[in-house]
Amino acid sequence: MRFVADSMVGRLARWLRVLGYDTHYQSRYEPGEMERFVSQGRTLLTRHRGRAEMMKGRALLIHGNGVGEQISLLKKDLGLEPEPSALFSRCLGCNVLLRPVKEGPAEGEVPEYVLYQNRDRIRFCPSCGRYFWPGSHRMRMEERLREWGFSR
Ligand SMILES: [Zn+2]
Repeated sequence: MRFVADSMVGRLARWLRVLGYDTHYQSRYEPGEMERFVSQGRTLLTRHRGRAEMMKGRALLIHGNGVGEQISLLKKDLGLEPEPSALFSRCLGCNVLLRPVKEGPAEGEVPEYVLYQNRDRIRFCPSCGRYFWPGSHRMRMEERLREWGFSR
């Protein structure tokens, strides 16, 4: 399941990436650009009723105000059940799959204690070059995922 999110559901897009779903997002689209992503097999996520109707069958109208409510509804509508191994596998900024750190020069890029404690769990984004590892920020995100009914 792959998505393209319109500019009104950026936070939702980010959380879908947390769950491991390939979710394209731009803060603005040129005319026809969104349609092109849909024609490549992505489901459009939009808060725009007219747009959802125009692409019926290939679009989902997003209800709910907070991102928690939105993602819970989406989970129910689509039966989202991400693979546990997919969680935190993507760069939240770029949507690109993270790579094991041995392919990137982690030394000097992450704090020494992180290297020491998480050597096998550090990932990096080949697109923006950021490093990711299980830390307190990630624990808070995991907690929210559990609140929304995603267990691992
Ligand atoms: Zn990135």
